[in-house]
Amino acid sequence: MTVTVRFAPSPTGHIHIGNARTALFNWLFAMKHGGRFIQRFDDTDFARSRQEYADAILYDLHWLGIFPDAIRYQSRRIENYDAAVERLKEAGVLYACYETPEELDLRRKVRRTRGLPPVYGREALKLTADEKAAFEADGRRPHWRFLLPNFDTDPFEPQRTDIVWTDVVRGEETVDLASLSDPVLVREDGTYLYTLPSVVDDIDMEVTHVIRGDDHVTNTGVQIALFKALGAEPPAFGHHNLLTTSSGEGLSKRSGALSIAGLRESGLEPMAVVSLAVLIGTSENVSAVASMAELAERFDPAATSKSASKFDPDELIVLNRALLHETPFSEVQDRLSALGISGEKAEPFWLAVRGNVEKLSDSVAWWKVLKSGPQEPAELSDEDKDYVRAAFDILPEEPWDASTWKAWTDAVRKETGRKGKALFMPLRLALTGLAAGPELADLLPLLGREGTLARQP
Ligand code: GLU
Repeated sequence: MTVTVRFAPSPTGHIHIGNARTALFNWLFAMKHGGRFIQRFDDTDFARSRQEYADAILYDLHWLGIFPDAIRYQSRRIENYDAAVERLKEAGVLYACYETPEELDLRRKVRRTRGLPPVYGREALKLTADEKAAFEADGRRPHWRFLLPNFDTDPFEPQRTDIVWTDVVRGEETVDLASLSDPVLVREDGTYLYTLPSVVDDIDMEVTHVIRGDDHVTNTGVQIALFKALGAEPPAFGHHNLLTTSSGEGLSKRSGALSIAGLRESGLEPMAVVSLAVLIGTSENVSAVASMAELAERFDPAATSKSASKFDPDELIVLNRALLHETPFSEVQDRLSALGISGEKAEPFWLAVRGNVEKLSDSVAWWKVLKSGPQEPAELSDEDKDYVRAAFDILPEEPWDASTWKAWTDAVRKETGRKGKALFMPLRLALTGLAAGPELADLLPLLGREGTLARQP
């Protein structure tokens, strides 16, 4: 069977780096196994879901380098969930409940004071037809719970029932169904909570591996029972650890700064974000990986730690710098051109400055230095000014190439007796206005003799 995975966010906000981690784990898993990736929007919460968020999520995925094989919306599949509900009702494992949230809350408190686990006591199972009719006559509508298969013959006597699976990420996992309340699958207003549609879709879409955050481990116990109740073989499951902010808080769709859109707008390279989102919290070294294919080679879901990982945005800058350092011109040509960096000098310029930029847009400042001279003229002592003037007087004749800098400074050394920093730094300051930057050997041919002379103090 073709490996099939899905990424299933609710389109209720922008995705952040933690959501991207889930998407990427799925994408890389599919890549590794020659599988399919389904983009599924869990949009059964009609009040909060929006098409514009779904569109933004797709845009973010494309930017990261994820191109789904199929896109599905749960809101367009309601009849499939209705059919599953009928099946469960016929099987006698979906039952109507009429409690209000306040009543449930009170019951939980009573159970606690009696030393019982605060799970739902299945009181609604005892309702007679007349009692139900009375609730309905009162205007109450039922919500529907799935009767967990955690008992022998008497649902009021739950027994320890371990659901065990070999997690793709965490190894052997167990959830005891007796420790859980029967989950509500359908709300009073007939809308669906996440649990049932997810299982129905995973069956219909022939999902073979469900890879998601470890906040879903308990759901998996319930969902495996639900797969079986619907007559389906459960898929394999994998639960990766979650990312938190550097102060340890969970990420939410509201933490704008760590949204993929925010990271993109801050000028980061997608593969810097991708590398960190995937490699953090694993036994792999976090380093900038240049391509998704290379990352797929390195990706091993089982190498993921079981505890939450702190995510430090500063690490992104380090990775971004490392990535740009190695990026060939052909990969950034169009973006440089959009920044106004084009023409025959664009390529040697990029090769000269790429080791000195944190973000691609930083190259604009260097382009300006080359085109119109130092943005702020350097402060040179009178002695250094004289030295620089003398050095400029013996600039070699053109043509200039990568060896010109050495030829020139050798001559300057002979002429002035200066060496080391005293020789280079005043020249660097006169040429660029800055004490650090790209190799002067690379910059000099870009400036040309005329451009260099224009910087003579
Ligand atoms: N909509 C669910 C979520 O975002 C999907 C979980 C799953 O992958 O099954 O948490």
